[in-house]
Amino acid sequence: MALAKTKAVALFGLNGTLIDVEADISSNLPNFILVGLPDASLSEATSRVRAACTNSGLSLPGRRITVNLSPASVPKRGSSFDLAIAVSVLAASGALNQEAAGEWLHVGELALDGSIRGVNGVLPSLLAAKELGWSRFIVPNENLAEAEVIEEIEVFGFDHLTQVASFHGSDVQPLAAGNEAKINREQQSNQLCYSDVLGQPEVIESMVVAATGGHHLLMVGSPGSGKTMVAERLPSILPRLTAEQAIETAAVESLSGLPAGISFDAPFRAPHHNSSASSLIGGGLSVPRPGLISMAHNGVLFLDEAPEFQQPALEALRQPLEAGEVFISRAAGVARFPARFQLIMAANPCPCGYAWDPTKRCKCVEPVKSRYLNRLSGPLLDRIDISLRVNNVPKAMQKERGPVSSQLRERVTAARDFGAARLAKTPWRLNAQVPGAYLRRQWKPNGNATAALDKALERGLLSMRGYDRCIRLAYSIADLEQVASPTAEHIARAMYLRGTELG
Ligand SMILES: [Zn+2]
Repeated sequence: MALAKTKAVALFGLNGTLIDVEADISSNLPNFILVGLPDASLSEATSRVRAACTNSGLSLPGRRITVNLSPASVPKRGSSFDLAIAVSVLAASGALNQEAAGEWLHVGELALDGSIRGVNGVLPSLLAAKELGWSRFIVPNENLAEAEVIEEIEVFGFDHLTQVASFHGSDVQPLAAGNEAKINREQQSNQLCYSDVLGQPEVIESMVVAATGGHHLLMVGSPGSGKTMVAERLPSILPRLTAEQAIETAAVESLSGLPAGISFDAPFRAPHHNSSASSLIGGGLSVPRPGLISMAHNGVLFLDEAPEFQQPALEALRQPLEAGEVFISRAAGVARFPARFQLIMAANPCPCGYAWDPTKRCKCVEPVKSRYLNRLSGPLLDRIDISLRVNNVPKAMQKERGPVSSQLRERVTAARDFGAARLAKTPWRLNAQVPGAYLRRQWKPNGNATAALDKALERGLLSMRGYDRCIRLAYSIADLEQVASPTAEHIARAMYLRGTELG
């Protein structure tokens, strides 16, 4: 009887469990059995591993092979255990060094020819394993870039099973990977720039305020007024992500099967208005998968034509907007995904889009027309600090280019640095996160800067919530000018940005 062991990791959401992969070869009739709660796709690992070994010149013994994945209580799924299973079996059969095999954690899917294929979730798997005290990893070469961002671990990337076997002391000839096309995983930096936007200086300046305080924003305007162009350039002026944020965001992307790579640009996600609630907030059958809001974590979620989204999808955003995270419950447990994003919504003023356009005729009838924007539910609008009306650019201004994004980003970064000292004493990191009661108690602007606001509140022209929103915005405007306490002018500008279209 021969026994050998190596490590793998099982992932649930972003949480991982170290798995012992233990192979036992006994002299019974030839068979290959996998035990320890594998799902259907993992059960097929036996045929993949057998074919991969045979086609690599690493033949398996013609005896009974049992591979046990423990702890058995942890559900395991997918093909990422293939490599660990193959290594444990080859070690048990004496084809490679047992001790060497046991010192490494293996992640990777095997193709029938022995090539090692990339898998989803390598970054969160390794982060979780590192957390549990493991530090030596072998991963698919395709996933090496995402694994290499983790500090204080040893990690190697391989293309073929024979390379791993050779690494663990086998004398097999290491082969190169098969002819599977290599995917270019290098992510391009965000190339968009506000200088491409013509004649919308005020709207762009409002985006600068939104970027400074992390304020959620709504734009209402006719088709062709440039709402989408303005929104998709927001990441170009947001501060670059910290290493920690970039890894956090990449871990979610890795899990969702996107080409993983580390980018220091804030992510931008723009789901279509047909998107289901589960594609937005996350779902999956037995295994939770992150939704688009988690893929927008540390970045921007843009809902174009927001009133066209299904009501359940819009409603589903409320809780994550409040909490900055989302919980997905499945039979096997509850997974938590981060979801702290900046919400940007765009809407036409009416279903046909031309209610405000002097050059075109609106074809909508009442009451459909006046009710259109009400489709955006109150609780969602309560989270919106800035509400902008975006007009079509007059002919005379159509040659006026916007400012260069890199310069705007410098202003935003400087303003955030300025505000950071004030926020450092609080649990919040951005002005938009500061609750109203705290604003009124601790951050009341000096002197009679709030005179106009107080009057509007007294006369019932402004709700308490609207009042707080103005103070919150005024702080972002003051931070941009590096002024410690907002002045009456800052508050007046905030009242304008708060908008009146939607109360
Ligand atoms: Zn219309």
